[in-house]
Amino acid sequence: MNFNKVDEKVVKRLKEVVGDNYVLTDPEKMESYSHDEVTGDKYKKMPEVVVLPANALEIASIVQLANEKIIPIVPRGAGTGYAASSVPFLGGIVVSTERMNHILEVDEENMIMVTEPGVRTGEVQTVAAKHGYLYAGDPCSGDSSFIGGNVATNAGGNKAVKYGTTRQQVSGIEIVTPKGEITTLGGKLKKDSTGYCLTQLMIGSEGTLGIITKVYLKLMPKPKNVMDLLAVFPTSQQAVKAVPKIIHSGIMPLCVEFMANNSIKTCENFLQEKLPHSDVGNYIIVSVEGDNEQVLEEQCMLIDDICSQNKALETLVADSERIWKARKSFGEADRACSLIFSAEDIVVPPSQVANMVEKMQIISKKYGIAINCVAHAADGNVHADILKENMDIEIWNELLPKLRHEVYTYVYSIGGKLSGEHGIGYKRVHLLEEFANPVELKMMKAVKKALDPNNIMNPGKVIQI
Ligand SMILES: Cc1cc2nc3c(=O)[nH]c(=O)nc-3n(C[C@H](O)[C@H](O)[C@H](O)COP(=O)(O)OP(=O)(O)OC[C@H]3O[C@@H](n4cnc5c(N)ncnc54)[C@H](O)[C@@H]3O)c2cc1C
Repeated sequence: MNFNKVDEKVVKRLKEVVGDNYVLTDPEKMESYSHDEVTGDKYKKMPEVVVLPANALEIASIVQLANEKIIPIVPRGAGTGYAASSVPFLGGIVVSTERMNHILEVDEENMIMVTEPGVRTGEVQTVAAKHGYLYAGDPCSGDSSFIGGNVATNAGGNKAVKYGTTRQQVSGIEIVTPKGEITTLGGKLKKDSTGYCLTQLMIGSEGTLGIITKVYLKLMPKPKNVMDLLAVFPTSQQAVKAVPKIIHSGIMPLCVEFMANNSIKTCENFLQEKLPHSDVGNYIIVSVEGDNEQVLEEQCMLIDDICSQNKALETLVADSERIWKARKSFGEADRACSLIFSAEDIVVPPSQVANMVEKMQIISKKYGIAINCVAHAADGNVHADILKENMDIEIWNELLPKLRHEVYTYVYSIGGKLSGEHGIGYKRVHLLEEFANPVELKMMKAVKKALDPNNIMNPGKVIQI
């Protein structure tokens, strides 16, 4: 599809919609919208124009204008994505939701919070807690990511074992469709079998099927106590193999995170803080929560037993702040030791995590490229950062596609997929073409063509039309 450029007439029309102050064309001001968290120059592109609308009506007018002129629209949250999905590679109008940052309602009777898309995830959590509730969405980027971005990527994170990903936290959304209509899908309902579930189709669609302008979030009763345990194992295999045993014991942990020894050392160096057994240890961090302290203690003792039987060097009540700071610094720590790296977001059946981690170690040795691994282990979601370090850029550009091809050939052979939570975006679009079930891919393309006939909504992302 050939798109038109944003010209002065389009800029003038955009200013009429949102006001002069909320249309950016100065390259210096637009620089931060030219990339997300994916590293490397090929994942950067300066926008033609950035607009900062205040509400759904303004967004609808912008989308109508884009259809009239056949210009791409690229929705943007906080830009913390790991798939280059909010970068305007085909030009067009970047629509930032940063001014739509209000919590509209906390409906305690229905246990629903209604927010605009530009509210930070951390603020949603804080406001829920102030009202005595839990908002269970919890990506590691929560201090910076927007709730609209979380919904658009179906973000996972640290409470997914017990509560599921963002998809399970949303009961409804308001969207602006690719044709510029405003509509609400779902709402405050607990159940809904009224035709196709379009709310769930939109969740995780990475801005390719519309712009989310309002979100209805489910609130949960807030548990009184949370306890974090840190189990340290001599090998990554022993660590990962303890995870199904914990799950099968009948405990429903909040999360079970894995950190391989090379990742622990990288985080330790980055934070300049000594971490327990960092010389040889591989971590499993298990969080459990509940109202009854005695029940929690019993669960912790059971986890301790399981880990000991699996040859743990030690199981400790974790210094929560310290251990989570280390776990959450994973991406930043890898960036500090290698400005360019490829963050993979592999998902495999939970029973295959140990095999997947072992395979990454074998591939790392074969290519002579460091690969740091952590995992949302009980979800089967392995984050593998492939580090360029000092490798010559030409060799890196040649080796990385081969390495990723080998990784995903293995991933699909064991029943896995390309992304557990970061999405396909621009970075994995070719891999989806290569590895996806062809019928599923055809269905995805049919949906996209039906809803966005001009292909203006975040084109070039997720699927190729
Ligand atoms: C340190 C770090 C830790 C991370 N940890 C996690 C984690 O634990 N779990 C996880 O899942 N991800 C994680 N991520 C990835 C990222 O934070 C999430 O994908 C997050 O949901 C992106 O939100 P955002 O507001 O930054 O969206 P952006 O990056 O701005 O956009 C992401 C996608 O959503 C679309 N989009 C944004 N807003 C809207 C909207 N209102 N309507 C329609 N489409 C929209 C964009 O077009 C783009 O396709 C992490 C990233 C970093 C840097």
